[in-house]
Amino acid sequence: MVHEWSLAEAVLEAVKKVAIDSGISKINRLIIGLGELQNIDIELFKESIEILKGEYSSEIQIDEIEFEDEEAVFKCRRCGEVWRLRDVELGEDEREAIHFIPELLHAFVKCPRCNSVDYEILSGRGVVIKRIEGVK
Ligand SMILES: [Zn+2]
Repeated sequence: MVHEWSLAEAVLEAVKKVAIDSGISKINRLIIGLGELQNIDIELFKESIEILKGEYSSEIQIDEIEFEDEEAVFKCRRCGEVWRLRDVELGEDEREAIHFIPELLHAFVKCPRCNSVDYEILSGRGVVIKRIEGVK
């Protein structure tokens, strides 16, 4: 719970900052991306956001919060190949392991073209603020 709660807090802090910096007084729609490679309890995280949203309402009002799944995409540092997690052939157990312990990724995923394990993760890692639609 603690992890999800502080993550939700960090997200709302960041949203508040962006809103204030761009002169938004009210947010109609906030879209949060949930990466394939994260190990948080999504339901708890959503709950935490909804509860915290109320606490932030005096500073910034948020009407609607939507969550979108964010696909994991990789790019090889050696050959430049770009691929997705869903392109990788993985067993059920391996998929599960990566979901709960993203650090294990490099044990199961390698570049499909050159077999290198030296690659960067372009997206799908953790939680990201995708879009803030507001009223100035
Ligand atoms: Zn490669």
